Amino acid sequence: MSDIADLYLIDLSLVDKFIKRRNIKKILLQAPDGLKPLLEKIIRHIKTSSPQIEIIVSAEPWYGSCMLSVNEVKILGADGIIHVGHNRYPWLYKDLGIPILYMPAYYLGKPSEELIDRIVETIKYRDIGIVASIQYIPYMNELISSLKLKGYNVYVGNPSNQWMEKGQILGCEYSAALNIQNKVEAFIVVSGGIFHALGLSLILREHKIYGLDPHREEVWEVSIYSDKILKIRYYKLYQLLRKGIRKAALITSPLLGQYRSSIIAYLKDLLEKNNIDYQVFSTTKVDKDRIASIDNAFSPDVFVVTSCPRLPIDDLSEYHKPVITPGELVMLLKKSVDKYIFPW
Ligand code: SF4
Repeated sequence: MSDIADLYLIDLSLVDKFIKRRNIKKILLQAPDGLKPLLEKIIRHIKTSSPQIEIIVSAEPWYGSCMLSVNEVKILGADGIIHVGHNRYPWLYKDLGIPILYMPAYYLGKPSEELIDRIVETIKYRDIGIVASIQYIPYMNELISSLKLKGYNVYVGNPSNQWMEKGQILGCEYSAALNIQNKVEAFIVVSGGIFHALGLSLILREHKIYGLDPHREEVWEVSIYSDKILKIRYYKLYQLLRKGIRKAALITSPLLGQYRSSIIAYLKDLLEKNNIDYQVFSTTKVDKDRIASIDNAFSPDVFVVTSCPRLPIDDLSEYHKPVITPGELVMLLKKSVDKYIFPW
């Protein structure tokens, strides 16, 4: 077993119940790259408890449960999916057509005394909100108890939907923080790296946002990073305002949770009202090569990514033409750039 697999808790009894209840014969396993080492443990378990089952491991990156692919399931002939590392994506409007077991993997580490002391040294606000990505919900709950003992008033918000856990956020869904924003002065975002903390910092500009990485046991203020990102975003927006937009590429995805038909319909309407020519493009992968290919074929003035609002910000800001989010297009076309709109 790899070291990473030892760091996370998964409930293998769920696998047995799922296979039995759904009468699964061929199963597809999915996990984000960082949690793929956990799959070996699940494969060994299935081979022991249900040796007749055919197992296929999807090598796709699966960085969100928004990425479900009807095509992959149909072509491989799988009759069940075990999706490790996430719970159900809240805006999955269509059914994949086969049963899915969402199996969160919970980080087993606990906050150390040294980390709590570092938080006390760093965060002087008394009323704080805490949110976490799914892996760190148990860690967040431990942290809450420790911080209360240090005299903090700690608030945890409810998510916008029944599929997410209390205090849970995604890179594009921050209701658990937004629902308590009026009660707190600062937020701690518990997550690996800066991704989730940066997203919240782009939405709540009046609050202090602190990232907390449980693996490195580091806590830091996020505004230096979000200020830098916002400078880049506004540079692109002002560039477009100056030059104007004649032609736009709306990029969507054939992945189930990333096909946002209502956002596309809204943006199409907005573009038409502004007499802007547009074309909708579909691609599962949105990277520099895909953008360059669309650019080559259509030469738009702007690319609007409707599949995942993080891609323009986190991955594609260096492309020589503006690649923007739906929220940024709305800011431009409504000529209302004072308040930055994120995520949509
Ligand atoms: S941030 Fe992107 S990858 Fe993550 S859940 Fe949202 S759409 Fe999916």
